[in-house]
Amino acid sequence: MKIETLKNKKLTLTNKGRLELIFIGVGSAFTKRQYQTNLLIIKGKDHILVDCGTRCTEALVKLGISPSDIRTLLITHSHADHIGGLEELAITGRYVTKRKPVMIINDTYEHFLWEMSLRGGCGHNEKTAHQILTFRDYFDVIRPHRLNEHPRETFGARIGGIDIKMMRTMHIPDSSPDWRSSFWSCGVLIDDRVLFTSDTRYDADLLTYFDETFGLDAIFHDCQLFTGGVHAGIDELKQLPGEIKKKLFLTHYGDNWGDFKTTAKQFGFAGFAQQHVRYIFD
Ligand SMILES: [Zn+2]
Ligand SMILES: [Zn+2]
Repeated sequence: MKIETLKNKKLTLTNKGRLELIFIGVGSAFTKRQYQTNLLIIKGKDHILVDCGTRCTEALVKLGISPSDIRTLLITHSHADHIGGLEELAITGRYVTKRKPVMIINDTYEHFLWEMSLRGGCGHNEKTAHQILTFRDYFDVIRPHRLNEHPRETFGARIGGIDIKMMRTMHIPDSSPDWRSSFWSCGVLIDDRVLFTSDTRYDADLLTYFDETFGLDAIFHDCQLFTGGVHAGIDELKQLPGEIKKKLFLTHYGDNWGDFKTTAKQFGFAGFAQQHVRYIFD
């Protein structure tokens, strides 16, 4: 894996065919300096924006990308730092550009995302009174298929040259003993080589299973700089085997991350993931 800075701090949505990950932000839900943890995957002519939080569209514009140029979305769960910018994309697509983005989403989560979040702002037609709109009026859908060979509920999809596996994670509530009893949330395995956990509590089995099965090149993991609540604490992540920690980059962290740079190194992590650089996998 190579890390490159962005030329002129600007980004394009295509490349020559190599897998690139660019964090639109790396911060927690409450960060004021690092947007939030939303990830852009680019490979050849294909791209996927994983999550679109409240501050995501502003960050995209700073990188030279019009939010309406985002064609493919994958949403990991319904907290506002992951879906807060979706209504803007949906309404812009319907009423301004007249182009629906595509979302990779299974039927269970489509129901939650629409009925419990998006419908409040998007359910009424802005042009025709009394016409109730649906999720499909805003998004085209790619249904991932269930991959039964994995013990944890996992779904797969292919977007052009990008292979995606979405596995259930253990994020909400803080009392749930496993992914089964947690509200819908997922992590993403990209091209069977890079794992992005999105938000999750400490769940060693998630990492050891996918690393043993796929021999991961890198892991980008949720990290809270204190322990407790619905995220993985840095003190919990330190218990992981050294082989995993050395390829694990911390994401979704607080604005005080600079105070933990030395700690992260001492614990054996690859470091804190940085926003607005290219992580390149040849
Ligand atoms: Zn979050
Ligand atoms: Zn969350």
